[in-house]
Amino acid sequence: MSINGQKKIVQQFVEAVNRGDMEIVNQVIDRDFYNYAPAAGEETAPEVVRQILLDLRTAFPDFKMHVEDFVDVGERLTFRMTMSGTHTKGLWGAPGKGNHIKWTSTVTSRFSNGKFAFQWKDLPPQEVVSKLREIDLVPPPEDMDKPLKYPIALPEILLKVLFTGQVGDKDCSHLDLIQVVQPDTDVCQDCVAQGDVWPALRMCLICGYVGCCDTAKNKHAKKHYEETGHLLIRSIRLEESWVWCYEDSAFFSGKILEKYR
Ligand SMILES: [Zn+2]
Ligand SMILES: [Zn+2]
Ligand SMILES: [Zn+2]
Repeated sequence: MSINGQKKIVQQFVEAVNRGDMEIVNQVIDRDFYNYAPAAGEETAPEVVRQILLDLRTAFPDFKMHVEDFVDVGERLTFRMTMSGTHTKGLWGAPGKGNHIKWTSTVTSRFSNGKFAFQWKDLPPQEVVSKLREIDLVPPPEDMDKPLKYPIALPEILLKVLFTGQVGDKDCSHLDLIQVVQPDTDVCQDCVAQGDVWPALRMCLICGYVGCCDTAKNKHAKKHYEETGHLLIRSIRLEESWVWCYEDSAFFSGKILEKYR
């Protein structure tokens, strides 16, 4: 496909999204992510992209995308993508406060059969965190070790990409070690004993220990891993149940826990 043909598909996508016509997602977004082909039963790229765009358009009623600076790099097309809008309604638990948000970044895309897949190019995690901070999805640095002000719940797939940089599962040979999946407490006992507070809780999937998360002042869950070698935890904040392997830096959907109940 010519670079002009590719450009046209991207522009068609952006114009339709700006009109609120989300059907375009199924027409032009490839089923596979940029470098991950979902297995049967896993979420496909159009499903994820559509849901995230719908969430953004609800939270930012004037949400707009803009694309420019197309560069043909062999089989790939890179371009600058700007997303902007006024944060008016709740997004994943963070209330809208009327802030105008604008985010420009470089995107790489690949095309096949008239559809495309894209990913952000060289996106520093710090930049992501600072953008999330602007819309209250991550607390300011001085509040990182305090309880969250809002019941934030990012979509699991977004968390996975943020934590691991990829959509697919990383290799981990430890899931068979899982013994306990349901917590029997909703506090970090070690913090309570010291009179401290925490933003979120994790549970050890091997012995059931519940401790505060890695952004907490005391990081009791991580200390538990370092002291015992129990390397698998799950989140027990709100409805969250995603799983993390400390040794492999691997992130899994909480759905995998159903097998161990
Ligand atoms: Zn592992
Ligand atoms: Zn703690
Ligand atoms: Zn443990």
